[in-house]
Amino acid sequence: MNKLVLPGDILRARDAIAAIPKVDLGPPIEVPPIPEEAKPNGITDEEKQWLTREINRYVKERNALVLSHNYEIPDIQDVAKYKGDSIFLAQKGSESDADVIVEAAVLFMPQILAVMKKPHQIILAPSLNALCSLAAHADPNKIMDWKKDNPTGIVISYVNTYIEVKALSNYCCGSANAAKVIEHVAKTYPDSPLLFLPDVHLGFFAAKTLEEMGQSIDRLWLMMGACHVHNDIRPYHVDNARKQHPNAAIAVHPECGCTSSCMRQVQTGEIPLKLVGFRSTSGMFKYAEEIPQKEIIIATEVGNIYPLSKAVPSKTFIPANPDAVCAYMKQNTLRNLYESLRDMKYEITVDPELAKQARVPIERMLRIV
Ligand code: SF4
Repeated sequence: MNKLVLPGDILRARDAIAAIPKVDLGPPIEVPPIPEEAKPNGITDEEKQWLTREINRYVKERNALVLSHNYEIPDIQDVAKYKGDSIFLAQKGSESDADVIVEAAVLFMPQILAVMKKPHQIILAPSLNALCSLAAHADPNKIMDWKKDNPTGIVISYVNTYIEVKALSNYCCGSANAAKVIEHVAKTYPDSPLLFLPDVHLGFFAAKTLEEMGQSIDRLWLMMGACHVHNDIRPYHVDNARKQHPNAAIAVHPECGCTSSCMRQVQTGEIPLKLVGFRSTSGMFKYAEEIPQKEIIIATEVGNIYPLSKAVPSKTFIPANPDAVCAYMKQNTLRNLYESLRDMKYEITVDPELAKQARVPIERMLRIV
């Protein structure tokens, strides 16, 4: 394969995996600075208490539900009724009868709720700057071209995609159910080409899932996309953390740039299998509870360590890369969450035709758990 490979290109899985080290998987959109008020001690305790009180008051007055992703700042996680990963929040939001749902996450998540909402509900997002570098890699035109070339093909899109991409997909999945969705699709459509997008590292994981099922990966196509935060958790970060904490277990999110290297090290015996778990954001909680090790190296966005430490206080969590911080998630602050509920902004709506098409893969994602 001599053709220049660009971010967002769709390639056969073997070519895509071979191209990972050669393609610039940096963010295709601007990464905003983290607002001062989202930094530790960015607002005073007095303001924090006032904002929390006001948010709770609006929650009651407006019959509202606040949802927070695990990568949000602790202040937001503390004020939310539910905190968790994308699938969990999509489930909680779509089950709710609240009149207003404000979701502190990145924008493809409130978009899911705007598709699944009941007619009386209003979906809000605290900040319109909460984008996602991974979702930005997925170009609908390239997916349409692939579908033209592969008319019997099945498109599985990761939850980190905007609604235009979900509308072109047959299935969606999150990291928590990616393996189950891939297994389901591979069995249901044994003769169809499969396209998994947009994360090439998770695509590597998809290829492994097919191999474990005894299937050839020749039918699999991947998109050259990545999350710049997870992509920057490199093999040397894990190696360095292991040197400092030799007895620690390791929990690796399969979106990470260290996923394939960790899998290879497990295969060669360099890292004992019993010390490594490839887990979704939410799967890390069960892993932390069950693994006997007291220290756990966490290879994912560092925000996940706050809820992990609260849920499993007997364990110590060590970030593989302490700089793995998602500036998009941190655009949501206690202040703009409060303003969102006060001023009923920013309402997230979806074109009805796109919503109709996107609903099918989203419902499949929520069913296959
Ligand atoms: S951590 Fe990565 S995948 Fe998650 S929202 Fe941020 S940029 Fe997107």
